[in-house]
Amino acid sequence: MKITNDNAKELRNDFPIFKRKINGKPLIYLDNAATTQKPQRVLDAIQRFYEQHNANIHRGVYQLSEEATEQYGRAHAVVGKFLGANANEIIFTRNTTESLNLLAYTVHAIMPKRKHIVLTELEHHSNLVPWQQFAKRHNMSIVFIPMKKDFTLDYDAAEKLIGGDTAILSVGHVSNALGSINDVKKLVSMGKNAGAITIVDGAQGAAHVPVNVKDINCDFYACSAHKLFGPTGIGALYGRKELLEKLPPFLFGGDMIKTVSYQDATWNDVPMKFEAGTGAIADAIGFAEAIAFIQTIGLENIAAWERELTQYALKKLRLPGITLLHGHDSAGIISFICEEIHAHDVASLVSDDGVCIRGGHHCAMPLMGKLGIPGTCRISFSVYNSFEDIDQLISSLAKIQHMFKEGGKT
Ligand code: PMP
Repeated sequence: MKITNDNAKELRNDFPIFKRKINGKPLIYLDNAATTQKPQRVLDAIQRFYEQHNANIHRGVYQLSEEATEQYGRAHAVVGKFLGANANEIIFTRNTTESLNLLAYTVHAIMPKRKHIVLTELEHHSNLVPWQQFAKRHNMSIVFIPMKKDFTLDYDAAEKLIGGDTAILSVGHVSNALGSINDVKKLVSMGKNAGAITIVDGAQGAAHVPVNVKDINCDFYACSAHKLFGPTGIGALYGRKELLEKLPPFLFGGDMIKTVSYQDATWNDVPMKFEAGTGAIADAIGFAEAIAFIQTIGLENIAAWERELTQYALKKLRLPGITLLHGHDSAGIISFICEEIHAHDVASLVSDDGVCIRGGHHCAMPLMGKLGIPGTCRISFSVYNSFEDIDQLISSLAKIQHMFKEGGKT
Protein backbone atom coordinates (compact mmCIF):
# COMPACT_ATOMS: atom_id res chain seq x y z
CA MET A 1 0.00 0.00 0.00
CA LYS A 2 1.52 3.29 -1.13
CA ILE A 3 1.30 5.82 1.69
CA THR A 4 0.04 9.31 1.03
CA ASN A 5 -0.46 12.17 3.45
CA ASP A 6 -4.17 11.30 3.71
CA ASN A 7 -3.77 7.62 4.45
CA ALA A 8 -0.90 8.33 6.88
CA LYS A 9 -3.40 10.41 8.87
CA GLU A 10 -5.99 7.66 8.53
CA LEU A 11 -3.50 5.05 9.77
CA ARG A 12 -3.31 7.00 13.00
CA ASN A 13 -6.78 5.64 13.83
CA ASP A 14 -5.19 2.19 14.20
CA PHE A 15 -3.02 3.51 17.06
CA PRO A 16 -5.06 4.17 20.22
CA ILE A 17 -2.44 6.52 21.70
CA PHE A 18 -3.32 9.16 19.11
CA LYS A 19 -6.67 9.66 20.85
CA ARG A 20 -4.66 11.32 23.64
CA LYS A 21 -4.25 15.04 23.93
CA ILE A 22 -1.10 16.67 25.32
CA ASN A 23 -1.79 20.04 26.92
CA GLY A 24 -5.16 19.90 25.19
CA LYS A 25 -3.43 19.54 21.80
CA PRO A 26 -3.23 16.58 19.44
CA LEU A 27 -0.26 14.29 20.02
CA ILE A 28 2.44 14.75 17.38
CA TYR A 29 4.91 11.95 17.78
CA LEU A 30 8.28 12.51 16.11
CA ASP A 31 10.45 10.26 18.28
CA ASN A 32 10.05 7.00 16.41
CA ALA A 33 13.76 6.19 16.46
CA ALA A 34 13.43 5.87 20.25
CA THR A 35 10.34 3.69 20.02
CA THR A 36 7.31 3.49 17.75
CA GLN A 37 3.68 3.60 18.84
CA LYS A 38 1.71 0.36 18.90
CA PRO A 39 -1.25 -0.48 16.65
CA GLN A 40 -4.43 -1.89 18.18
CA ARG A 41 -3.87 -5.29 16.56
CA VAL A 42 -0.58 -5.71 18.45
CA LEU A 43 -2.23 -4.75 21.74
CA ASP A 44 -5.09 -7.16 20.95
CA ALA A 45 -2.71 -10.02 20.14
CA ILE A 46 -0.97 -9.65 23.51
CA GLN A 47 -4.26 -9.44 25.39
CA ARG A 48 -5.72 -12.39 23.45
CA PHE A 49 -2.75 -14.53 24.47
CA TYR A 50 -3.26 -13.80 28.17
CA GLU A 51 -7.04 -14.17 27.96
CA GLN A 52 -7.15 -17.34 25.89
CA HIS A 53 -3.87 -19.18 25.60
CA ASN A 54 -1.74 -18.33 28.63
CA ALA A 55 0.47 -21.23 29.75
CA ASN A 56 4.17 -21.85 29.88
CA ILE A 57 5.81 -23.23 26.77
CA HIS A 58 7.64 -26.51 26.12
CA ARG A 59 6.58 -27.83 29.51
CA GLY A 60 3.00 -29.01 29.42
CA VAL A 61 1.37 -31.56 27.18
CA TYR A 62 -2.04 -30.03 27.82
CA GLN A 63 -3.83 -27.98 25.18
CA LEU A 64 -3.08 -24.47 26.48
CA SER A 65 0.63 -25.17 26.72
CA GLU A 66 0.63 -26.69 23.25
CA GLU A 67 -1.09 -23.57 21.90
CA ALA A 68 1.39 -21.25 23.64
CA THR A 69 4.33 -23.34 22.39
CA GLU A 70 2.98 -23.32 18.86
CA GLN A 71 2.45 -19.53 18.86
CA TYR A 72 5.87 -18.84 20.37
CA GLY A 73 7.49 -21.11 17.77
CA ARG A 74 5.52 -19.38 15.01
CA ALA A 75 6.83 -16.01 16.26
CA HIS A 76 10.39 -17.26 15.69
CA ALA A 77 9.41 -18.21 12.15
CA VAL A 78 7.71 -14.85 11.46
CA VAL A 79 10.68 -12.83 12.73
CA GLY A 80 13.04 -15.15 10.85
CA LYS A 81 11.15 -14.68 7.58
CA PHE A 82 11.08 -10.90 8.11
CA LEU A 83 14.89 -10.90 8.33
CA GLY A 84 15.40 -13.51 5.60
CA ALA A 85 16.39 -16.27 8.05
CA ASN A 86 15.06 -19.59 9.36
CA ALA A 87 13.07 -19.93 12.59
CA ASN A 88 15.91 -21.78 14.34
CA GLU A 89 18.34 -18.96 13.59
CA ILE A 90 16.31 -16.46 15.67
CA ILE A 91 16.97 -16.08 19.39
CA PHE A 92 14.53 -14.00 21.40
CA THR A 93 16.28 -11.59 23.75
CA ARG A 94 15.03 -8.54 25.64
CA ASN A 95 16.25 -6.05 23.03
CA THR A 96 19.12 -5.12 20.72
CA THR A 97 21.28 -4.29 23.73
CA GLU A 98 20.84 -7.76 25.19
CA SER A 99 21.45 -9.36 21.78
CA LEU A 100 24.77 -7.54 21.51
CA ASN A 101 25.68 -8.39 25.10
CA LEU A 102 24.88 -12.04 24.43
CA LEU A 103 27.54 -11.92 21.74
CA ALA A 104 29.99 -9.92 23.83
CA TYR A 105 29.78 -12.67 26.48
CA THR A 106 30.16 -15.63 24.13
CA VAL A 107 31.75 -14.81 20.80
CA HIS A 108 35.34 -15.08 22.04
CA ALA A 109 34.87 -18.87 21.87
CA ILE A 110 34.39 -18.81 18.09
CA MET A 111 36.35 -15.76 16.92
CA PRO A 112 39.80 -15.91 15.35
CA LYS A 113 42.39 -15.10 18.01
CA ARG A 114 43.39 -11.63 16.86
CA LYS A 115 43.78 -8.24 18.52
CA HIS A 116 41.16 -5.89 17.00
CA ILE A 117 37.44 -5.27 17.26
CA VAL A 118 36.35 -2.94 14.47
CA LEU A 119 33.37 -0.61 15.06
CA THR A 120 32.39 2.70 13.46
CA GLU A 121 32.48 6.21 14.89
CA LEU A 122 28.68 6.31 14.62
CA GLU A 123 27.86 3.55 17.10
CA HIS A 124 25.10 3.70 19.68
CA HIS A 125 26.42 2.94 23.19
CA SER A 126 24.80 -0.50 22.90
CA ASN A 127 27.25 -1.45 20.18
CA LEU A 128 30.19 0.19 21.91
CA VAL A 129 30.16 -0.28 25.68
CA PRO A 130 29.79 -4.12 25.57
CA TRP A 131 32.81 -4.24 23.22
CA GLN A 132 34.83 -1.93 25.48
CA GLN A 133 34.28 -4.41 28.31
CA PHE A 134 34.98 -7.32 25.97
CA ALA A 135 38.25 -5.69 24.86
CA LYS A 136 39.30 -5.31 28.52
CA ARG A 137 38.45 -8.93 29.36
CA HIS A 138 40.30 -10.33 26.35
CA ASN A 139 43.15 -7.86 26.17
CA MET A 140 42.15 -6.51 22.78
CA SER A 141 41.65 -3.04 21.35
CA ILE A 142 38.89 -1.31 19.44
CA VAL A 143 39.52 0.53 16.20
CA PHE A 144 36.95 2.80 14.57
CA ILE A 145 35.99 3.28 10.94
CA PRO A 146 35.91 7.09 10.66
CA MET A 147 32.93 9.17 9.62
CA LYS A 148 33.47 11.74 6.86
CA LYS A 149 32.24 15.34 6.88
CA ASP A 150 29.10 14.33 4.97
CA PHE A 151 28.17 11.97 7.87
CA THR A 152 28.86 8.83 5.82
CA LEU A 153 31.54 6.28 6.62
CA ASP A 154 34.95 6.41 5.04
CA TYR A 155 34.93 3.09 3.19
CA ASP A 156 38.49 3.54 1.93
CA ALA A 157 39.64 3.84 5.53
CA ALA A 158 37.50 0.79 6.39
CA GLU A 159 39.27 -1.19 3.70
CA LYS A 160 42.61 -0.39 5.35
CA LEU A 161 41.39 -1.01 8.91
CA ILE A 162 39.72 -4.37 8.36
CA GLY A 163 42.33 -7.04 7.84
CA GLY A 164 44.49 -9.71 9.40
CA ASP A 165 44.17 -8.19 12.89
CA THR A 166 40.37 -8.07 12.86
CA ALA A 167 38.65 -10.62 15.08
CA ILE A 168 35.22 -8.97 15.14
CA LEU A 169 33.53 -6.38 12.95
CA SER A 170 30.38 -4.97 14.56
CA VAL A 171 28.62 -2.13 12.78
CA GLY A 172 25.37 -0.23 13.05
CA HIS A 173 23.06 -0.50 10.04
CA VAL A 174 21.50 2.96 10.48
CA SER A 175 22.78 5.67 12.82
CA ASN A 176 20.10 6.55 15.36
CA ALA A 177 21.75 9.93 15.95
CA LEU A 178 22.14 11.13 12.35
CA GLY A 179 20.08 8.73 10.26
CA SER A 180 23.03 7.78 8.00
CA ILE A 181 22.51 4.40 6.34
CA ASN A 182 25.71 2.41 6.33
CA ASP A 183 26.58 0.05 3.50
CA VAL A 184 26.65 -2.97 5.78
CA LYS A 185 26.84 -5.41 2.89
CA LYS A 186 30.09 -3.81 1.77
CA LEU A 187 31.50 -3.74 5.31
CA VAL A 188 30.49 -7.33 6.00
CA SER A 189 32.16 -8.41 2.80
CA MET A 190 35.38 -6.70 3.98
CA GLY A 191 35.03 -8.46 7.33
CA LYS A 192 34.37 -11.85 5.72
CA ASN A 193 37.37 -11.50 3.40
CA ALA A 194 39.48 -10.88 6.50
CA GLY A 195 38.01 -13.96 8.24
CA ALA A 196 36.39 -11.92 11.04
CA ILE A 197 33.09 -12.51 12.84
CA THR A 198 30.61 -10.00 11.40
CA ILE A 199 27.80 -8.44 13.45
CA VAL A 200 25.20 -5.82 12.49
CA ASP A 201 23.36 -3.67 15.03
CA GLY A 202 20.02 -3.46 13.25
CA ALA A 203 18.02 -1.59 15.91
CA GLN A 204 17.28 1.19 13.41
CA GLY A 205 17.96 -0.78 10.24
CA ALA A 206 15.21 -3.37 10.63
CA ALA A 207 12.65 -0.59 11.07
CA HIS A 208 13.55 1.44 8.00
CA VAL A 209 15.38 -0.71 5.48
CA PRO A 210 14.13 -4.08 4.16
CA VAL A 211 16.63 -6.56 5.61
CA ASN A 212 17.81 -9.87 4.27
CA VAL A 213 20.55 -11.24 6.48
CA LYS A 214 21.59 -13.82 3.88
CA ASP A 215 22.06 -11.06 1.33
CA ILE A 216 23.99 -8.89 3.81
CA ASN A 217 25.87 -12.13 4.58
CA CYS A 218 26.52 -11.15 8.20
CA ASP A 219 27.03 -13.75 10.93
CA PHE A 220 24.72 -11.97 13.42
CA TYR A 221 22.02 -9.28 13.19
CA ALA A 222 20.37 -7.71 16.27
CA CYS A 223 17.08 -5.79 16.50
CA SER A 224 14.29 -4.74 18.92
CA ALA A 225 10.53 -5.22 18.49
CA HIS A 226 9.65 -1.89 20.08
CA LYS A 227 11.11 0.08 17.17
CA LEU A 228 8.95 -1.96 14.79
CA PHE A 229 5.48 -1.30 16.27
CA GLY A 230 5.94 -4.24 18.66
CA PRO A 231 6.12 -4.38 22.46
CA THR A 232 9.06 -3.39 24.62
CA GLY A 233 11.00 -6.15 26.37
CA ILE A 234 11.56 -8.34 23.34
CA GLY A 235 14.24 -8.29 20.67
CA ALA A 236 15.84 -10.74 18.32
CA LEU A 237 19.28 -11.94 17.48
CA TYR A 238 19.75 -13.65 14.14
CA GLY A 239 22.74 -15.96 14.06
CA ARG A 240 24.06 -18.13 11.25
CA LYS A 241 23.02 -21.66 12.25
CA GLU A 242 26.47 -23.27 12.18
CA LEU A 243 27.85 -20.47 14.39
CA LEU A 244 24.94 -20.65 16.87
CA GLU A 245 25.73 -24.33 17.21
CA LYS A 246 29.35 -23.58 18.10
CA LEU A 247 28.60 -20.55 20.30
CA PRO A 248 28.46 -21.33 24.05
CA PRO A 249 25.28 -20.40 25.97
CA PHE A 250 24.97 -16.92 27.49
CA LEU A 251 22.55 -17.65 30.35
CA PHE A 252 22.14 -20.99 32.09
CA GLY A 253 19.09 -22.62 33.67
CA GLY A 254 15.76 -24.10 32.65
CA ASP A 255 14.74 -24.68 29.02
CA MET A 256 18.26 -24.22 27.63
CA ILE A 257 19.41 -27.71 28.65
CA LYS A 258 19.03 -31.13 27.09
CA THR A 259 20.18 -33.25 30.04
CA VAL A 260 21.31 -32.33 33.56
CA SER A 261 23.16 -34.39 36.19
CA TYR A 262 24.19 -33.11 39.63
CA GLN A 263 27.59 -32.19 38.22
CA ASP A 264 27.04 -31.16 34.63
CA ALA A 265 24.61 -30.44 31.81
CA THR A 266 24.27 -30.60 28.04
CA TRP A 267 22.65 -27.93 25.90
CA ASN A 268 19.37 -27.86 24.05
CA ASP A 269 19.15 -27.30 20.29
CA VAL A 270 19.33 -23.76 18.94
CA PRO A 271 17.59 -21.40 19.50
CA MET A 272 16.46 -22.86 22.90
CA LYS A 273 20.11 -23.12 23.97
CA PHE A 274 20.09 -19.32 24.17
CA GLU A 275 16.64 -18.84 25.70
CA ALA A 276 17.08 -19.78 29.36
CA GLY A 277 14.07 -19.45 31.63
CA THR A 278 10.56 -18.36 30.76
CA GLY A 279 10.70 -15.92 27.88
CA ALA A 280 8.46 -13.02 26.96
CA ILE A 281 5.89 -15.33 25.34
CA ALA A 282 3.06 -12.80 24.92
CA ASP A 283 5.51 -10.19 23.68
CA ALA A 284 6.96 -12.59 21.11
CA ILE A 285 3.41 -13.06 19.82
CA GLY A 286 3.01 -9.25 19.82
CA PHE A 287 6.30 -8.99 17.88
CA ALA A 288 4.98 -11.36 15.21
CA GLU A 289 1.73 -9.37 15.02
CA ALA A 290 3.71 -6.14 14.58
CA ILE A 291 5.52 -7.73 11.63
CA ALA A 292 2.16 -8.77 10.18
CA PHE A 293 1.08 -5.12 10.51
CA ILE A 294 4.23 -3.96 8.67
CA GLN A 295 3.62 -6.53 5.97
CA THR A 296 0.08 -5.32 5.28
CA ILE A 297 1.66 -2.00 4.27
CA GLY A 298 5.08 -3.18 3.12
CA LEU A 299 8.36 -1.99 4.64
CA GLU A 300 9.33 -0.56 1.22
CA ASN A 301 6.20 1.63 1.29
CA ILE A 302 6.86 2.70 4.88
CA ALA A 303 10.45 3.56 3.98
CA ALA A 304 9.30 5.50 0.89
CA TRP A 305 6.88 7.55 3.00
CA GLU A 306 9.56 8.25 5.59
CA ARG A 307 11.85 9.45 2.79
CA GLU A 308 9.12 11.78 1.52
CA LEU A 309 8.58 13.20 5.00
CA THR A 310 12.34 13.60 5.39
CA GLN A 311 12.64 15.59 2.15
CA TYR A 312 9.70 17.79 3.18
CA ALA A 313 11.14 18.40 6.65
CA LEU A 314 14.64 19.11 5.30
CA LYS A 315 13.24 21.85 3.06
CA LYS A 316 11.19 23.36 5.89
CA LEU A 317 14.08 23.22 8.35
CA ARG A 318 16.41 25.30 6.19
CA LEU A 319 15.85 28.29 8.43
CA PRO A 320 18.06 30.97 9.98
CA GLY A 321 19.43 29.78 13.31
CA ILE A 322 19.03 26.08 12.48
CA THR A 323 21.94 23.86 11.44
CA LEU A 324 21.15 20.49 9.93
CA LEU A 325 23.44 17.54 10.58
CA HIS A 326 22.29 15.43 7.74
CA GLY A 327 23.90 13.33 5.03
CA HIS A 328 22.45 12.56 1.61
CA ASP A 329 21.00 9.19 2.54
CA SER A 330 18.97 8.86 5.68
CA ALA A 331 16.36 6.59 7.14
CA GLY A 332 13.67 8.98 8.33
CA ILE A 333 15.88 10.56 10.99
CA ILE A 334 16.97 14.21 11.05
CA SER A 335 19.29 15.79 13.59
CA PHE A 336 19.59 19.54 13.88
CA ILE A 337 20.85 22.23 16.22
CA CYS A 338 19.08 25.49 17.13
CA GLU A 339 21.60 28.28 17.56
CA GLU A 340 22.03 29.25 21.21
CA ILE A 341 19.17 27.05 22.43
CA HIS A 342 20.03 23.81 24.19
CA ALA A 343 18.51 20.72 22.57
CA HIS A 344 16.82 19.77 25.88
CA ASP A 345 15.13 23.19 26.00
CA VAL A 346 13.92 22.81 22.43
CA ALA A 347 12.51 19.33 23.12
CA SER A 348 10.85 20.45 26.31
CA LEU A 349 9.33 23.63 24.80
CA VAL A 350 7.91 21.99 21.67
CA SER A 351 6.32 19.46 23.97
CA ASP A 352 4.06 22.26 25.24
CA ASP A 353 2.50 22.13 21.77
CA GLY A 354 2.04 18.34 21.96
CA VAL A 355 5.13 17.69 19.81
CA CYS A 356 7.44 14.86 20.94
CA ILE A 357 11.03 15.11 19.71
CA ARG A 358 14.31 13.98 21.25
CA GLY A 359 17.03 16.31 22.50
CA GLY A 360 20.40 15.09 23.72
CA HIS A 361 23.31 12.84 22.83
CA HIS A 362 21.10 9.96 21.64
CA CYS A 363 23.29 7.36 23.36
CA ALA A 364 26.15 8.34 21.04
CA MET A 365 28.35 10.47 23.30
CA PRO A 366 31.61 9.79 21.44
CA LEU A 367 29.96 10.83 18.16
CA MET A 368 28.71 14.07 19.73
CA GLY A 369 32.27 14.64 21.01
CA LYS A 370 33.60 14.19 17.48
CA LEU A 371 31.05 16.69 16.18
CA GLY A 372 32.04 19.06 19.00
CA ILE A 373 28.50 19.43 20.34
CA PRO A 374 26.75 18.26 23.51
CA GLY A 375 23.76 16.96 21.59
CA THR A 376 21.21 17.58 18.88
CA CYS A 377 17.47 17.85 18.41
CA ARG A 378 16.28 14.75 16.59
CA ILE A 379 13.08 14.07 14.74
CA SER A 380 12.32 10.62 13.39
CA PHE A 381 9.36 9.56 11.29
CA SER A 382 7.04 6.63 11.02
CA VAL A 383 4.08 5.51 9.02
CA TYR A 384 1.52 7.67 10.86
CA ASN A 385 3.35 11.01 10.50
CA SER A 386 2.04 13.64 8.12
CA PHE A 387 3.21 16.90 6.55
CA GLU A 388 1.06 18.73 9.10
CA ASP A 389 3.11 17.19 11.95
CA ILE A 390 6.20 18.79 10.43
CA ASP A 391 4.39 22.11 9.91
CA GLN A 392 3.41 22.13 13.59
CA LEU A 393 7.00 21.42 14.62
CA ILE A 394 8.26 24.26 12.42
CA SER A 395 5.78 26.72 13.89
CA SER A 396 6.65 25.61 17.44
CA LEU A 397 10.35 26.06 16.63
CA ALA A 398 9.71 29.55 15.26
CA LYS A 399 7.87 30.42 18.47
CA ILE A 400 10.80 29.21 20.59
CA GLN A 401 13.38 31.05 18.48
CA HIS A 402 11.32 34.22 18.83
CA MET A 403 10.96 33.70 22.59
CA PHE A 404 14.73 33.28 23.04
CA LYS A 405 15.48 36.28 20.84
CA GLU A 406 13.12 38.44 22.86
CA GLY A 407 14.53 37.00 26.11
CA GLY A 408 18.03 37.92 24.95
CA LYS A 409 17.02 41.58 24.61
CA THR A 410 15.89 42.06 28.20
N1 PMP B 1 21.51 0.53 18.47
C1 PMP B 1 20.89 1.57 17.88
C2 PMP B 1 21.43 2.10 16.59
C3 PMP B 1 19.76 2.13 18.50
O1 PMP B 1 19.14 3.16 17.92
C4 PMP B 1 19.29 1.60 19.70
C5 PMP B 1 18.10 2.21 20.42
N2 PMP B 1 18.07 3.59 20.44
C6 PMP B 1 19.96 0.49 20.25
C7 PMP B 1 21.07 -0.01 19.61
C8 PMP B 1 19.50 -0.13 21.52
O2 PMP B 1 18.21 -0.65 21.36
P1 PMP B 1 17.43 -1.14 22.65
O3 PMP B 1 17.35 0.03 23.57
O4 PMP B 1 16.11 -1.57 22.11
O5 PMP B 1 18.22 -2.25 23.22
